[in-house]
Amino acid sequence: MVHLAKIPTDKDLTAPLVDGLEKVKFGDVADDDTTVSVYGSRFAAEDLPKYEMPEWEMPKDVAYRMIKDDLTLDGTPTLNLASFVTTYMEEEAEKLMIECFSKNFIDYEEYPVSADIQNRCVSMIARLFNIPSHDENTNAMGTSTVGSSEAIMLGVLAMKKRWQQKRKAEGKPTDRPNIVMNSAVQVCWEKAARYFDVEEKYVYCTADRYVIDPKEAVDLVDENTIGICAILGTTYTGEYEDIKAINDLLVERNMDTPIHVDAASGGFVVPFINPGLLWDFRLEKVVSINVSGHKYGLVYPGVGWVVWRDPKYLPKELIFNINYLGADQASFTLNFSRGASQIIGQYYQMIRLGKHGYRSIMLNLTRTADYLAANLEQLGFIIMSKRGGNGLPLVACRIDPSKGKVYDEFAIAHQLRERGWVVPAYTMAPHSEGLKMMRVVVREDFTRSRCDALIADFKLACQTLDAMDEKKVKEHQDHSKHMRHRATRTGRHHRINNHFSDEKHSLQGKTGKTHAVC
Ligand SMILES: *Cc1c(COP(=O)(O)O)cnc(C)c1O
Repeated sequence: MVHLAKIPTDKDLTAPLVDGLEKVKFGDVADDDTTVSVYGSRFAAEDLPKYEMPEWEMPKDVAYRMIKDDLTLDGTPTLNLASFVTTYMEEEAEKLMIECFSKNFIDYEEYPVSADIQNRCVSMIARLFNIPSHDENTNAMGTSTVGSSEAIMLGVLAMKKRWQQKRKAEGKPTDRPNIVMNSAVQVCWEKAARYFDVEEKYVYCTADRYVIDPKEAVDLVDENTIGICAILGTTYTGEYEDIKAINDLLVERNMDTPIHVDAASGGFVVPFINPGLLWDFRLEKVVSINVSGHKYGLVYPGVGWVVWRDPKYLPKELIFNINYLGADQASFTLNFSRGASQIIGQYYQMIRLGKHGYRSIMLNLTRTADYLAANLEQLGFIIMSKRGGNGLPLVACRIDPSKGKVYDEFAIAHQLRERGWVVPAYTMAPHSEGLKMMRVVVREDFTRSRCDALIADFKLACQTLDAMDEKKVKEHQDHSKHMRHRATRTGRHHRINNHFSDEKHSLQGKTGKTHAVC
């Protein structure tokens, strides 16, 4: 039931507010009509307010329904195979998280248990990453963040400050810090470098190597290098970079350059699937690690974590102490207020599933990824990702160029999109940008039967495209481009503005690298 009695029409809104409030006519809507349905109301006949906050209230059920309807044009999260971000949690977890919606995590004094739960998570994660020695009574050095991006910003800041301190102590200039990383880094590394004035030194991918070359990375290090970024599970192919090789080269050459491991996706996979792989604090040069709680940590967005090997790697200037219940809780995040729900959700997952539970899930995902890879290979695709748990549970593939297809990966992505699947196509990182690829991320809720449905649609997509000649494929691509433009014009994919659409500073702006969705 919607009660519309007090809702004025647009023309009433021009009535003077202060001295004429009572003169506002409630004209067009029947005063006593309590039976008007959502879709019978005038709101259903109008566009939702988009630019200016409306002057008047609308009934809550109308607002709910209208926004919900608007959102149905979004993709379906479970069919979105582009993203690593969690789309399923148990009801009990959801219930707990909803109950904590109103808690501001930073209010340590009011919510000391939430603060303590964060510390428990930090401790569990640090141990999962084999932190060298830990005293039962001290908290491992680390914090929750909004995601890996914030965690990486903190890791970069800590490395930069430490480098500056060392340089100052040596009486050397500190104005030209740089960081060494793979050109296939996630965009947040470009941001961190840019925002904090650190020069980016890239190790470029090649046509057949999509991970960092350890020797090239270490060769790039100079006296101004604050650290090396190594990725445990790149966003393009899900491969694990050879962190041990980088570590060993640094040790061999007696260099004290720190390594920060970006384990955004791999941090909650490798410890369960591949515990023998040396990538974490077991390697002496690894000083900090980030992981996204909202990827394979199995929590809804957004939560991330960063941990340091030892408090000495986190310069004191970055730490602010906030007193709660007589004890100090260190705070070193970029953001102040944030919801406590995600942190609680992470704690739930870790104690509910335990290591055994995570292992069972990650094993299933790995098997599903291998099954999908085998099937796509049979369809003639070249598989670019690793199998058997030697990379993230995802499948990255491309069309075999020797097959002389007249269509590309973007055309297949478009075909799949028409069947509801979001399977993205990308252009690889610079120096290998001739390469196009597609990527399917296998998440917890991507079951074997859903995988079979996807394989069937892949087959169908290829058959449809195989039946088209070059001209037809081109028409088809123009059509999909046109549809995308139309969607933009009708506001479905409305850009906030176009002022910055031609930026030239990022790898994307400079080289056309399209960033893999995370
Ligand atoms: C997802 C991802 C990031 C960014 O993490 P968010 O949690 O989305 O902020 C950084 N690095 C890698 C390798 C990623 O996969």
